Amino acid sequence: MNDGKAGIESGARITSWLAARKQRPLTCSIAVAVLLCCALAHAAVPATDKAPKSGITLFQGATLIDGSGAPPRPDMDVLVEGERILRVLPDSQLDPAVRAKAKAIDLRERFLMPGMIDAHVHLATPPNRRQAEAILRRDLYGGVTAVRDMADDLRAVGELTRASLAGEIPAPDIYYAALMAGPDFFTDERTGQVSVGGVPGHVPWMQAVTKATDLPLAVARAKGTWATAIKLYADLPADLASRITAEAHRQGLLVWAHATPYPSKPSDMVAAGVDAISHACLLIREPDAHVPSWSEPHPNVDLAKFRQGDNPALARLFKEMARRGTILDATLWTYSSDTAGSTTMPPLAPGSCDDTVGGEITRQAYLAHVPIDAGTDFIGDWKDPWPDLFHELDTLAVKAGMPNEAILQSATLVGARAAGQQRDMGSIEPGKLANMVVLARNPLTDLKNLKSVLMTVKRGRVYPRTAFVPLVKNDITDR
Ligand SMILES: [Zn+2]
Repeated sequence: MNDGKAGIESGARITSWLAARKQRPLTCSIAVAVLLCCALAHAAVPATDKAPKSGITLFQGATLIDGSGAPPRPDMDVLVEGERILRVLPDSQLDPAVRAKAKAIDLRERFLMPGMIDAHVHLATPPNRRQAEAILRRDLYGGVTAVRDMADDLRAVGELTRASLAGEIPAPDIYYAALMAGPDFFTDERTGQVSVGGVPGHVPWMQAVTKATDLPLAVARAKGTWATAIKLYADLPADLASRITAEAHRQGLLVWAHATPYPSKPSDMVAAGVDAISHACLLIREPDAHVPSWSEPHPNVDLAKFRQGDNPALARLFKEMARRGTILDATLWTYSSDTAGSTTMPPLAPGSCDDTVGGEITRQAYLAHVPIDAGTDFIGDWKDPWPDLFHELDTLAVKAGMPNEAILQSATLVGARAAGQQRDMGSIEPGKLANMVVLARNPLTDLKNLKSVLMTVKRGRVYPRTAFVPLVKNDITDR
């Protein structure tokens, strides 16, 4: 039963019931008592979580890191009306009449930055509502206001997306992809986990495609899931990837691809016009003249040629990516030793690319002006009170050597662009959604200061860190 709606209905129902009560004995009063409890339970949700009433909220006197890359500005005000930012201005210029009318939140000595975006998550492989809600809650109260879901059972992700937008669960907004791959990929057991009741490869969010596929129909089926993008995953030749990308763009969908889907490789994906490519360690195939097919053995690569951060084949690729604005979704953390003990991912094979080599490749991309988003593609332990994203940000700093301001841009503006939401989020400017984070300490001086979140604002609604309910054992079972 949907509390909110039930709450309002029970009110009306109470009135009519009360009118009828004069005619009925005891059972009536018990029913009335039950309905009253529901209404009270509904009213029990902390006031700050409620949708913002019309009227203006003044976030006052903060040191503003607006996400544009501009240096922080002290003593700034942000006026929010409903879900959106109305104005951003120095406190000294605020009209006293506006100040008097607005509900003020004092942010002096505080830092205000855009809400962060985890550009690579999987919330339903397999569907696990309790786990998904726990991860999303940890994200939101840690400053993450949007996530990009990179393929899953979209029946479950669609419902989570609705519940988040409706404010029924404390969660970031979710933008997701419908997957396409060649037939050989659909022997992977994960495709079965996310297609229960259907046939992997033949459901709109997991489609097997070949040269014979009716692409306008396949893309329209994917779009019908309310997906933001098509995810090109595996077993795809370059020409087919190009045709899918052209059709997806024609139908207004983005295209997010694995950097090497086999047998196509990164430069094929970039030339196909995809919007973002994932996994720095999949870039190691770029120098190879021949890339095997998906189902053929994938021989180890000599990683030495990537350790100096000056690989010539990657230099050509990154030049083209920078020219086109193709985003690199590096996901370095998922190649780290933190994944040991994972229940969903095999351990890294000896001699395979890890976060150190992936970090060198990402540093080369960063220095070549390739836009890099911040995506996790892994799930932290339930004991961790902070978003998984913080691990990726740390890894971009330690392994790719990116400076803090670039890393915060990866987690904000570039993340917004990766999700196709740059008009609505990723920076603090008038007209955009009021997705913001208030911190006690400056994240530009030390990324560890991200763990000083005091409140998250999503679509103008305030989520104080004090309201965060920590995770418990068994909240996370599939990681
Ligand atoms: Zn992934």
